[in-house]
Amino acid sequence: MTETDGQDGHDPDAIDWRDGIPYAARFGDLYYSAEDPRGEVQHTFLDGVDFDALCRQPTLTIAETGFGTGLNFLEAWQRWEALASPDAQFTFISVEAFPMSQADLEQAHALFPALADKAAQLRRQWPGFIRGSHLISLSEGRIRLILLIGEAEKMFAARDFTADAWFLDGFAPAQNPDMWRDAVFHQIARLSRPGTKLASFTAAGMVRRGLAEVGFDIVKRPGFGRKRDCIAGTLEIPVDRPASKTPWTKLPTPRPGARIAVIGAGIAGRCLGASLINAGFETTVIQGPESRAWAASTLPRALIAPKLIRGDQPYPRFWRQAYLDALRVLDGIAPDIWCGPRGLIIPAPDQGIRDRQAALKGELAWPTDILRQIDSSEAADRLGRACPGGLFLPGAGILDPSRLLERLVPDTTLLQTDVKMLSRTGGRWSLHDGRNTVVATADVVILACGPGAVELLPEHDAGYGLRIGSGQLFQAQGATASGISILHDGYVGSTDASGVFVAGATSEGWQNIGPVPVDPAATDRIQNRLADYLPDFSTESMNAWTGLRCDTVDHLPLAGPVQNPMAFETAYDGLRHGKPPEAMPDPDYEPGLFCLTGLGARGFQAAFTLADQMTAMLSGNPLPLDRDMTDALLPNRFQIRNLRRNL
Ligand SMILES: Cc1cc2nc3c(=O)[nH]c(=O)nc-3n(C[C@H](O)[C@H](O)[C@H](O)COP(=O)(O)OP(=O)(O)OC[C@H]3O[C@@H](n4cnc5c(N)ncnc54)[C@H](O)[C@@H]3O)c2cc1C
Repeated sequence: MTETDGQDGHDPDAIDWRDGIPYAARFGDLYYSAEDPRGEVQHTFLDGVDFDALCRQPTLTIAETGFGTGLNFLEAWQRWEALASPDAQFTFISVEAFPMSQADLEQAHALFPALADKAAQLRRQWPGFIRGSHLISLSEGRIRLILLIGEAEKMFAARDFTADAWFLDGFAPAQNPDMWRDAVFHQIARLSRPGTKLASFTAAGMVRRGLAEVGFDIVKRPGFGRKRDCIAGTLEIPVDRPASKTPWTKLPTPRPGARIAVIGAGIAGRCLGASLINAGFETTVIQGPESRAWAASTLPRALIAPKLIRGDQPYPRFWRQAYLDALRVLDGIAPDIWCGPRGLIIPAPDQGIRDRQAALKGELAWPTDILRQIDSSEAADRLGRACPGGLFLPGAGILDPSRLLERLVPDTTLLQTDVKMLSRTGGRWSLHDGRNTVVATADVVILACGPGAVELLPEHDAGYGLRIGSGQLFQAQGATASGISILHDGYVGSTDASGVFVAGATSEGWQNIGPVPVDPAATDRIQNRLADYLPDFSTESMNAWTGLRCDTVDHLPLAGPVQNPMAFETAYDGLRHGKPPEAMPDPDYEPGLFCLTGLGARGFQAAFTLADQMTAMLSGNPLPLDRDMTDALLPNRFQIRNLRRNL
């Protein structure tokens, strides 16, 4: 049996229970010592890195190999909460190749009643066996757990962050040699700075030698209980870093303590506002006037559904991670943000689609509580009318956007004004309205204003790949009900408690940043496309809505610092002539100017991960997205493409 043969993506043979202690058959080892597991964590890991002293830092990053039951994380969280100042932040980034199932975790956590509350919070957001990175936000965003499900070297090699300390856990080197290879030690050193500490339960000679080889000063300490030794270490010699092959992707220096203005109070601006405020930034979120009521986030209902695409490129990976991260956040908000029953079917009306869906499902290998195939009889039962079988996503569904936005950043706290111009004097940004009055000042400005960003971004020939289009949907009172939502050449939402459902959406080219009139022909097109799946309804009850959708030509949002286009042109002119990028300088950015826009047709999925990504850039914390995804979202990518093509 392989690791994903189990019905929920787990190998059912993987965990064995020995006197109540989880035992990994795969590695022939216990997850923790039978005697005093909590005492061992305290002694080996927390004392080993002098954790109490680290808790006094305003931001703390602990990295770990081998998440296991999460006991090290839970202990560190508990200790940090007791010692850290209320505005401090803690990121724990951990890799795990074989995550436990929910049920096994619950059984393992039952041994630690003093950690029960935290363990339950962790389990509520536990991703299970889904490869890739997962962002888990706890304690109102003060604690970020970035869980990397996959092989240690590969996962760490794909990221850039600086750990304050490492917990080297995982099964013993003899049982799990993959975790204790030189290539992994190299990554540990690369992601450390001089002074970074580490601790491990193993004092095996090859581990000590390997870590010393990459620059750590390793000392043996007395082991816990019956164990003779464990180790602690400090990085003495920084790792040599080769010159970057993409110097333009280097991010600007973080801006902890900056005063931030977020222009835009749609889903992008509010997610950002909430995330920045949680991270302790003094933040003003700005909402445009009524004349900008075209904003897509004012739509009456939003479908939360993943873009499911095969492949390992940044594009499919970003949209998959965004969906899963968004579900975790949304599940933590009061359930009244959802309209109608959760659950979505993507039908497969013919064999070709069925085969493609089976291949996709096989490739993703997501647990069945996230994604599974259902047959036509289950589909019809759930939907309430005939429907081909297909992919079923129990967590997907229809949201009430206005309720969600209000929960993220309440309307009463928004600054209502139309920003027409930005200027910069004395190291600060001034935001001007249409009468050229300064309506706000800030150290950092983030353009989270959908299509409105086009008017405020510095102009240059290559542009930012932004495309503005119009879209239309309608709501109606159903005479029959849809028990779940359906996604097929558009979508029909599940019927809410008052009998209303939503159907959409169209996508048309549109040039003006301004109101879009309702087009009766667009409503007809939606009805024709979705004829097989719409509930019965009277046309008198129909209510159409239109708005502006802001996408990019590569269908990935813009999320990151805004480059200084003139300086970029000069710095990377060599790309036009095929010069080696390694010799090129670091990028010049517009100081303190960032943007988050181009969220396209799935903004309500994308915004949560992206808000954390931008907040982490500004606070200097590890990013939730790996390097390839981060680079693929940078606003400067279109200018770089043009330079490479000598355009
Ligand atoms: C018909 C249609 C159906 C859709 N359905 C879905 C769906 O089911 N699920 C989904 O996830 N997504 C859906 N989308 C896409 C989704 O709505 C967008 O991706 C998302 O709302 C974009 O959010 P945003 O915050 O980036 O921008 P917007 O919602 O456009 O918000 C922009 C904000 O910036 C403000 N602003 C703009 N310019 C200025 C300025 N100069 N000064 C001050 N303030 C300014 C505006 O007032 C507004 O507050 C749909 C879009 C359309 C058009």
